[in-house]
Formats: sequence, structure tokens, C-alpha cells
Amino acid sequence: MSDLAIRDLRKTYRTKGRPEVHAVRGFDLEVDSGELVGLLGPSGCGKSTTLRMIAGLEDATSGDIRVGSSSVVGLPPQRRNIGVAFENYALYPPLSVSENIAFGLRARGKGDRKKRVADVAHRIGLTDILDATPVGLSSGQKQRVALARAIVRRPDVLLLDEPLSHLDAGQRDTTRRELRHLQQELGYTTILVTHDQEEALSLADRVVVMNDGVVQQVGTPDEIYDD
Ligand code: ADP
Ligand code: ADP
Repeated sequence: MSDLAIRDLRKTYRTKGRPEVHAVRGFDLEVDSGELVGLLGPSGCGKSTTLRMIAGLEDATSGDIRVGSSSVVGLPPQRRNIGVAFENYALYPPLSVSENIAFGLRARGKGDRKKRVADVAHRIGLTDILDATPVGLSSGQKQRVALARAIVRRPDVLLLDEPLSHLDAGQRDTTRRELRHLQQELGYTTILVTHDQEEALSLADRVVVMNDGVVQQVGTPDEIYDD
């Protein structure tokens, strides 16, 4: 695992005939190796844009993103070794669950791929549905498949955008417990976007509150929610 360091990250959206949108205006954050940071803030404050820039799904206007000792700015997503599970699961409907999970492992040998998929499926409780296609799955199951796909490559950094949304209260409890267990066991360097205080309290080592494109507050969950 590696640490993650983000310095003065900025994103300005420029659309012809429209005013510029300064979505991220100088975001600074260091995440220790194995640390889970909860990222909170009102809708539109720049959380998703920040995650997309870290993942390489969107170019940063300026700023630096380091994973371990190397900058990943300018690298395509597949060369960043960053696992992402975003709110719209983006599973490929024609592929089975196991093929969806294996998608990031194409460069590997078939035997190794099978072993890794089986291992991750076992950890996340997907073994029974590996041959199913996404269409018939519940939203909770889809969310777990997206999580499995995000971690199967053993990424240096894990980015989770509202991983427990779309779940009912019972599923949310179960999945939250599983996430914490996974995190403790595998120790991912993680940023988790959430609007759920309980989720942040139970999962995050530190909480970062974002507002209007910048970090407004950083602290342990107890410090942030003390008042
Ligand atoms: P959050 O995830 O915190 O809800 P976003 O990162 O989605 O916030 O959005 C931050 C700001 O950037 C918002 O004002 C949003 O409307 C704007 N924005 C996001 N994506 C685009 C885009 N592709 N083009 C123009 N503006 C965008
Ligand atoms: P390999 O595929 O390199 O032979 P193994 O499957 O035997 O490795 O697992 C090696 C170690 O990696 C084990 O300690 C296992 O718990 C850990 N591991 C397995 N899957 C993951 C994962 N998705 N992320 C991080 N560590 C993992």
C-alpha cells in the first residue's frame, strides 16, 4: 500500500457560451498508507470531481497527485493502480459477475485471474452469484460487485463514492461491517465519499469536510461531530 498526497488540485470546467465553473479550487490532502478518509460536503462542492481527477477519469486543471513517491498526473487510469467504485456501478450487462470482476485483470494469466476473482468473491460474499449477469442482481449485490472489481487488482489507493447508497438499512449495516473488516484486513489507502454521518463515524480514521471546492475542516470523526 502507498500513501496519497494531493497538492493544490484545481478543476475549472469551461463550456463555450457558459460561465466557467471552478469546481475544485485548491484541494490539499494527505492520506497515510492504510488510512481511510471520509470525504463529506454539500452536493456540488466538488467531491466527485476530486475523485475523478485522482482516478484519472478527468484531467486536473492544475495541481499534483502523488501515490507513494510518484506523481500520477497525466497517466491514464489503467496505469494509476487506483481502484474505484462509483455510485453508478457501471457494470457491463453482457458479462457475468465473475467476468465483470476480472475485467481489470486482462493482462494476467487465466489461472491467476481465476484465483484472484475467487479470492475476492469469497471475501465479499459473491461466490454464489459469480455466474449471474448484473441485470438480475439487487442493488446491494451490484454495489458489492463494483467493490470486488475495485479491489481485485490490489490497488495502491481505493476510491469509493457513496458505496452504501441504494441499500436498505439492513443491507447498509451488513455492508458497512464488511467494509470495515476488509479495510482492517487488507489496509487500503482509501477515500470514501459519503453524506452519512454514521458511515463516517464507523468507518473513517479521519473526516475531511469539503465546501465550495476546498477543504474546510479536517479531523477525527469525534472532533468533527463533537458539536
Ligand atoms: P459533488 O460531488 O460534491 O456533488 P461535483 O464534483 O459533482 O460535486 O460538482 C462540483 C461542481 O462542478 C458543481 O457545480 C457541478 O455542477 C460542476 N460540474 C461537475 N461536472 C461538470 C461538468 N462535466 N461540466 C461542468 N460543470 C460540472
Ligand atoms: P498471489 O496471487 O500473488 O499468489 P495470494 O492470492 O496467495 O497471492 O495472496 C497473497 C496475499 O495477498 C494474501 O495475504 C492475501 O490475503 C492478500 N490479498 C489477497 N487479495 C487481496 C486484495 N484484493 N487486496 C489486498 N491483498 C490481497
